[in-house]
Amino acid sequence: MNKKLSVFAIGTGGAFDTDKVNSSFYVKFKNDKILVDCGYNVFPYIKENMPEVLEELNAVFITHLDDDHIGSLKSLLFYRYYILGKSTLIRCGEDITRALIDYLPSNNVMKNGKYVKINIWSLIDLPNFNPDTLKASGNLPNSFIYPVKCVHHVPSYGFVFGFKDGGMIYISGDTKAAISIEETINLIDNVYNIKESFLLHDFTYHNVPEETSHACQKDIEVRYSTRFIERLNYYHNDKCVLNGLIYELKEK
Ligand SMILES: [Zn+2]
Ligand SMILES: [Zn+2]
Repeated sequence: MNKKLSVFAIGTGGAFDTDKVNSSFYVKFKNDKILVDCGYNVFPYIKENMPEVLEELNAVFITHLDDDHIGSLKSLLFYRYYILGKSTLIRCGEDITRALIDYLPSNNVMKNGKYVKINIWSLIDLPNFNPDTLKASGNLPNSFIYPVKCVHHVPSYGFVFGFKDGGMIYISGDTKAAISIEETINLIDNVYNIKESFLLHDFTYHNVPEETSHACQKDIEVRYSTRFIERLNYYHNDKCVLNGLIYELKEK
């Protein structure tokens, strides 16, 4: 099996960090090349610095509809259609789909799915997310992608990509710390017998939980176990130093 899994940080900035690229990741997973989020300065950055991505990506995953996550999505979709002649598959959470369709241009090209095809999480939606049942049925897939529900001011999902008996990555999307997140990650660890993982989590230095819809130190200390906190790599802020290729699963 092709066990390729890598994450390239295109940007790790938050909404106000206009001197940094918005939080966006380029994930290579098996044969897929997935752009996770396309905030207001992401398309110009990619076009200038990594134009091959515009050619080769085969899906865009959207965590949620804030500007720093979809602000240049339309430009990317138009560019791929009109300049490169390519259509784009978008995947997002079920409760984001309707708003995303309203946001995108409702012209004929869009409507007949010629340049954009929006694919919701029809396979496994979190309310029914139960790897234990999957495990009991003996039908555990060798690789998996799951949406993980966030706690944010709008509907929002993070994503997990991984391999049974192998490695996995988690990109949180914008979220406060939530007990359900640690529980979900632990469940996936156990059911899929995960050997190594790389967890990226939203973080703000505005350390007042009631004033922010992002995770801050106080929020994290209350919601998460020490063991889980030690596993987290923080992003979506001006102090994050992660960039370029930040994770690559080594084939065992
Ligand atoms: Zn947000
Ligand atoms: Zn954001």
